[in-house]
Amino acid sequence: MSPIKVDDSMPTISPLQFSTRAIHVGNSPSAETGAVIPPLSLSTTFEQESVGVHKGFEYSRSQNPTRLQLETSLASLEGGAGALAFASGSAATAAAVMSLGVNAHILSVNDVYGGTARYLTRVGQATQGLKTTFIDLETSSDEDIYNSIQENTKLIWIESPTNPTLRLISVPKLVKIAASHPSKPLVLVDNTFLSPYFSNPIAQGADIVLHSISKYINGHSDVIMGALIVRKGREETLEGLRFLQNASGAIPSPFDCYLTLRGIKTLALRALQHGLSALRIANFLSTHPLVESVTYPGLVSHPSHDLAKSALAPQVWRDLKKIGWNEAVGVPFGGMVSFKIRGGGEEADQFLQASHLFCLAESLGGVESLAEVPDKMTHAGIPEEARLALGITPNLIRLSVGVEDTEDLVADIDQAIRRAVSVASA
Ligand SMILES: *Cc1c(COP(=O)(O)O)cnc(C)c1O
Repeated sequence: MSPIKVDDSMPTISPLQFSTRAIHVGNSPSAETGAVIPPLSLSTTFEQESVGVHKGFEYSRSQNPTRLQLETSLASLEGGAGALAFASGSAATAAAVMSLGVNAHILSVNDVYGGTARYLTRVGQATQGLKTTFIDLETSSDEDIYNSIQENTKLIWIESPTNPTLRLISVPKLVKIAASHPSKPLVLVDNTFLSPYFSNPIAQGADIVLHSISKYINGHSDVIMGALIVRKGREETLEGLRFLQNASGAIPSPFDCYLTLRGIKTLALRALQHGLSALRIANFLSTHPLVESVTYPGLVSHPSHDLAKSALAPQVWRDLKKIGWNEAVGVPFGGMVSFKIRGGGEEADQFLQASHLFCLAESLGGVESLAEVPDKMTHAGIPEEARLALGITPNLIRLSVGVEDTEDLVADIDQAIRRAVSVASA
């Protein structure tokens, strides 16, 4: 029996364009049957010709053909030396933290994903003696950032944009500061919010990219999964993480890998549409009389708009050029938009009741549009004072813009805002 062929003849950083790689890398037809879609490989164990002689697969926790296809695809999309898939984004976070050993220090952006903050402070600290310093990496001076790096700082943990206030951090700037410090911490970027279509942190100098695949990469809200992608030249880090993937066993099922491979094939199409609709909605909201403010880094008026543009991957510019894009209206920059409705928490609640197309739910990155109030939902665990300091007020609404018809979404938002404000003031 020959194993499912994964086309490793195709280099992970190849001259092929992003959307071509999304369809072909890791997806060659089965050498055995010619099936254009490689079969889903469910077997837990693999026959050996003689003791220790096998085709690269022994036991499915350690290596699985369908998972290998997916990991090959992910490494290609982010331009890494290798990728490792985990049972969730949180399991990928756990592996990245575990790999630091005992008594390490992490420098983290202050409004990091809540689950990451929880792991760093409540698990990493108790089990590994991990210390984390949370600082505002957007506005701190280079000197303050440098001085926050300690002798035992092993990792700088970045999200850009942050959630839900969409603040941006310059990855090249952080990479430069990290390299100039004697501790030489690695730089990890959680790229979940942008997806590999919009931005590739490794090309900007990052060492490790983390994804919650549960969001844009799978894109259909039916898989929980995570991944770590490691840059070329950091093979020791990659192998250490691979050891932990097998030893701790938090691996995704082959079926979820199969679904994700299917999702990835339309990532470029989906992501661009998410971004174009999000930009249209952000522009619409910015002139709406019942909206206090809107945050979308692709808007020309966003304070970090130039930084947003510098973070966009070549495939985005290439696609925009194809459609003759006029940058005067802004650029697509992911599918997340935050805005403050005029009024308070009551207006925000009513908006969520009144919308027909934005489903009231947590999470993001699926083809269907979602809306939530961070103050009472995703960010309710943060103390009120800290929430307000981050700009998370009760009237802040976070949208995950899906790929429905753009003008249907705009019309729905408009009617929901009008209805919310009139019901709340009645
Ligand atoms: C959802 C999310 C995670 C955690 O991923 P799970 O797949 O839910 O475990 C980590 N980081 C960010 C930015 C996320 O949005």
